[in-house]
Amino acid sequence: MTETILAAEPTIRLVAFLGILAAMALWEVGAPRRRREIPRVVRWTNNFALVLLDTAILRLTFPILAVGLAAMAEERGWGLFNNIDVPVGVAIVVSMLLLDLAIYLQHVMFHAVPGLWRLHRMHHADLDFDVTTGLRFHPIEILISMGIKLAVVAALGPPAVAVLLFEVILNATALFNHGNIDVPRPVDRILRWIIVTPDMHRVHHSVDPRETNSNFGFNFPWWDRLLGTYVAQPANGHKGMVIGIEQFRTRRDLWLDRMLIQPLLGPASGGALDARSHQSRSSSVSSKKAEPGTDK
Ligand SMILES: [Zn+2]
Ligand SMILES: [Zn+2]
Repeated sequence: MTETILAAEPTIRLVAFLGILAAMALWEVGAPRRRREIPRVVRWTNNFALVLLDTAILRLTFPILAVGLAAMAEERGWGLFNNIDVPVGVAIVVSMLLLDLAIYLQHVMFHAVPGLWRLHRMHHADLDFDVTTGLRFHPIEILISMGIKLAVVAALGPPAVAVLLFEVILNATALFNHGNIDVPRPVDRILRWIIVTPDMHRVHHSVDPRETNSNFGFNFPWWDRLLGTYVAQPANGHKGMVIGIEQFRTRRDLWLDRMLIQPLLGPASGGALDARSHQSRSSSVSSKKAEPGTDK
């Protein structure tokens, strides 16, 4: 079973990725949520070039990735679930939840630690918000994330199929929730109880640090609601809000070479620590946030 999963992993992941990417790109053309500020050719060429670079660096750096490590842990009896007797269904569900919680916490950490925020803010510096924004991560952030994921897998000993499912779902939801798509408001209201929707994640890409530092979930929306980081809608509405961060706002900043050196440029403002100081300077933002459905 595990061998079949390992053999099929690259095909499953590639087919799911390309299929969902194509579907989202068509959906964005058919029912866009916001008007584009930047021509697609500028952002898409550079964002896709970054994906290729990230993938190459990841493969060259790690001899084994998360699904492979889960299989190895199963074989050698490493980690919690390889040492306790629980039904495989329970192990799969709990593993996926804990992996998602780990990703949420890691995302909060990338906002809270200034050095890590310098890496992660590149994801936020995209000046439009569409399906390719979901792929835009600095290669060093990709490497650190994989290191954390491997540590979680080693400690948890999840079934390899749970890790594969998690990876495919996470990849799919990241493409979906960065989509510049107009999901009807009543549908969004229901959907955001189950998965992170584009309207929910778009708040996270607001230029306002108080909104940037909210809605950290990529996959399941529950952690934000349970842990107090949920903001329902942007204060200026989805059409009026400004996407990006304050520091990098020129078209040149969207080029691959500039993206790669962004961690070394300027102050580390805009992260969670900065948002806290904003909060103490001005009082009332969160209490005035609109509820789902009240936004235009
Ligand atoms: Zn973020
Ligand atoms: Zn994002």
